[in-house]
Amino acid sequence: MAITQTRTAHLQAIDAAHHIHPFCDPKSLAERGTRVITKADGCYVEDSDGNRILDGMAGLWCVNVGYGRQELVDVAARQMEELPFYNSFFQSSTPSQIALAERLSKITPGDLNHFFFANSGSEANDTVIRMARHYWHLKGKPEKYKFIGRHLGYHGSTLAATSLGGMKHMHDMGSSTLPGFEHIMEPHWFAHGGNLSPEQFALRAAQALEDKILEIGADNIAAFIGEPIQGAGGVISPPPGYWPEIERICRKHDILFVSDEVICGFGRLGEWFGCQYYGVQPDIMPMAKGMSSGYLPISAVAFSDRIFETLNEGGPISHGYTYSGHPVSCAVAHANIDIIEREGLVERVRNDIGPYLQSGLAHLYERHSIIGEVRGAQALAGLQLVRSRDTREPFAAEDNAAMICRDICLEKGLIMRAVGQAMVICPPLTITHAEIDEMIDKADAGLREAASRLGLD
Ligand code: PMP
Repeated sequence: MAITQTRTAHLQAIDAAHHIHPFCDPKSLAERGTRVITKADGCYVEDSDGNRILDGMAGLWCVNVGYGRQELVDVAARQMEELPFYNSFFQSSTPSQIALAERLSKITPGDLNHFFFANSGSEANDTVIRMARHYWHLKGKPEKYKFIGRHLGYHGSTLAATSLGGMKHMHDMGSSTLPGFEHIMEPHWFAHGGNLSPEQFALRAAQALEDKILEIGADNIAAFIGEPIQGAGGVISPPPGYWPEIERICRKHDILFVSDEVICGFGRLGEWFGCQYYGVQPDIMPMAKGMSSGYLPISAVAFSDRIFETLNEGGPISHGYTYSGHPVSCAVAHANIDIIEREGLVERVRNDIGPYLQSGLAHLYERHSIIGEVRGAQALAGLQLVRSRDTREPFAAEDNAAMICRDICLEKGLIMRAVGQAMVICPPLTITHAEIDEMIDKADAGLREAASRLGLD
């Protein structure tokens, strides 16, 4: 047996003995053995057996500037030498926090000018919940405390973020739901649109928000939250007209509008933030992932001038994390934003690789009837796998269609993620045409093999 494989088996055994993985069935993971990723460069990762794999998921929707950026390593090292940590609780701040807050205010849309730092998307969304409720208390309306999210929405894995999201399997695990969270239908035309045109369905799906508001009373609702495109739910991109209608309904009923930009932020949709792609302006905007391209954990919540004015007059904010605005993470996030800007990655997605990727996926759609629809926009995509495109007949859950396709693609050296019955693609924004061609070729071969294994031809 080659030395690398012995090493892999050894690592897998220790992993199975001591490491509990997120979102995994521990027993089946241990049986199959975890894939040990050891290095990465550009858009490729390498595993402990020396396989080089094209990372079509940018790590976990986050490595926007690609792997191997020495500049970010140097910035982190310098900051660690100078000041590895100081808190921001007790009348203190650090230069890298201050600089990052100002930097963010330059790229966020409208009057989103005030930032609270945390370490993950989940913590950012817990912050959203606490701050929005605090805001309504200060406004003299403490009964406005409920949140409306969407089915298949994902906002994180803490207790509050799990409740905010609309993932049933997460709610069911350990009865993990808090009171005060409601959910409406996700704007998924292919699944729920029936005979409606996408535009008609967009209004129907947005109307679900108004129906819910009328059912529970606007006086009881703090905010509505949604991802511009629902990522972990399977890249569910709403049809045209949905977001402006949602925004209108929030304004009409005096409900805060929260755009969860954890995946869509930092260039993914060819704008700095996903809400800009859809032409809407939130009051509150959580962000993470692409903020540091995953080089270090950091997240933030942006608040509008209007909300901050109220918070500012409202006395102590009893909320915060030890690592809120960790100086090293802040320095790296700042340098990461500099790279995105200097290399024009936002424009690159909009004018070049976004359209190029989408045309490659359209090509796959033409060639494979196992693809029911291609969803997403720009550098974020989902391929819905179906038994029949014409009747929209889905695969049975036990067919494991997406898992089969994912595993075949991985064998061929391409990482895509399987979500429900969809294949998900979210590459680094630095991906080249040649790498997209490689991705499409590998997906093409993977889809053909999956279709045949699933008895489609
Ligand atoms: N919001 C969205 C839209 C996400 O996609 C995620 C993570 N995938 C989160 C929040 C939670 O982020 P984290 O895993 O960093 O807690």
